[in-house]
Amino acid sequence: MLDKRQFYINGTWCDPIAGQDLEVIDPSREEACAVISLGGIADTDMAVASAKAALPGWMHSDPAERLALVERILEEYKNRAEDMAQAISLEMGAPIDMARSSQVGAGVWHISNFIKAFEHIRFEEPLGDHAPEDRIIREAVGVCALITPWNWPMNQVTLKVIPALLAGCTMVLKPSEIAPLSSVVWTEILHAAGTPKGVFNMVNGDGAGVGTQLSGHEDVDMVSFTGSTRAGIAISKKAADTLKRVHLELGGKGANLIFADADDKAVKRGAIHCFANSGQSCNAPTRMLVQRDIYESAIETAREIAETTAVGPASESGRHIGPVVSQAQFDKIQGLIETGVAEGARLVAGGLGRPDGMNRGYFVRPTVFADVSNDMTIAREEIFGPVLSIIPFETEAEAIRIANDTVYGLTNYVQSQDGARRNRVARQLRAGMVEMNGRSRGAGSPFGGMKQSGNGREGGVWGIEDFLEVKAVSGWDNTAE
Ligand code: NAD
Repeated sequence: MLDKRQFYINGTWCDPIAGQDLEVIDPSREEACAVISLGGIADTDMAVASAKAALPGWMHSDPAERLALVERILEEYKNRAEDMAQAISLEMGAPIDMARSSQVGAGVWHISNFIKAFEHIRFEEPLGDHAPEDRIIREAVGVCALITPWNWPMNQVTLKVIPALLAGCTMVLKPSEIAPLSSVVWTEILHAAGTPKGVFNMVNGDGAGVGTQLSGHEDVDMVSFTGSTRAGIAISKKAADTLKRVHLELGGKGANLIFADADDKAVKRGAIHCFANSGQSCNAPTRMLVQRDIYESAIETAREIAETTAVGPASESGRHIGPVVSQAQFDKIQGLIETGVAEGARLVAGGLGRPDGMNRGYFVRPTVFADVSNDMTIAREEIFGPVLSIIPFETEAEAIRIANDTVYGLTNYVQSQDGARRNRVARQLRAGMVEMNGRSRGAGSPFGGMKQSGNGREGGVWGIEDFLEVKAVSGWDNTAE
């Protein structure tokens, strides 16, 4: 069993001061594969003190030096791609081929895009011709606590650590205790790339321990959090006493509006997207809204996709989906499938229990419900498993109303060949992102939500700006340095 108990503080790996052991469970086998330590207050304090001490030097460093560090991190990340894929696959159950391509690939994508976006950040600029002695300075927010979940580990870590580094912030990363192994590899990458001492620190811990300690810590200036809406609320309350900046990327209940004039791959694409990563994506299109004229054929297509989506162990090559991450998630999903049936939704594919022939591992049957109404529990709660809910609609106005009738507002999807309709609908959807006709968002596009899906934006220029404060200075001497 792997021993990954150490933390990374002030540029060195060190033993926990107040740690408690926690086993990391391989979800394909339901067996412990590693042991980590959950830190305590003394560990949190030491990591924050290290970041605080490194802040003055790093925030006033030459931006070119920070960019050069991130370029070295990208190179080292690519060198360690296979180790990273193995760690992610083991800790959270992503099938190894998908871990290599999508999970590890997300990190390369984000780091590369931040490098491009960095060119557009103006750390100092005049206010305007009308006020030549006014200077606008953008400077690092300060010491940041970065708290991440288990479902797309490197996607989320790179979306926080890289812009924080580029902005000149110092930081403490607390990865998910359920998927901490990839962050150990990540920390080795930052060390090998020559990150200055104290700029980046990593402490493992759970939400009640290190997560809460960081959120309330008086020397932490900002918390950037990705995870559940429940934890986002707890963090916001905890952070309120010190009025620290809180950046939240939370859950979603994405609607996929499929109009009768959609292209003939739209339903298939939507179902595959819903089941990808075993349904464990905050932006998954889990509510499929289908116009009545094509409703029955859409149900049939979704059923076929569910029944032909293979489920298998993370270590095997192939295009199957893996297990869900934990016993707790497995039980939650089973409970919601049961509720769907009890509340009268029509079970079209999948259902309770593991797929045929599997009796171990947190494997869930790809499941499709039809005749779902938007007030049912399965249409309101984030399931975070491979479960699709199909909801019929008649008119465009009704589709928009159903899509917006949720506490979430992360990603919505629109399928129609009528461009004017697509644009009209996109303007009216209350969500941070709208993806249409299967076109994914481009490089540097901001990721984030409205309503209870959070605030702030990650990725590209917006992602870096979220780690910067704006300082307004008057009486600036333009003849001096
Ligand atoms: P979680 O909220 O339980 O845990 C996420 C992280 O927060 C972990 O590191 C955990 O230790 C920590 N944490 C938990 N409670 C805390 C508290 N009270 N104070 C401080 N830290 C705390 O979520 P999860 O189960 O790991 O992840 C799944 C959830 O994350 C889903 O709801 C999903 O939609 C959401 N998510 C959102 C995005 C996004 O960008 N919007 C991306 C991925 C996942």
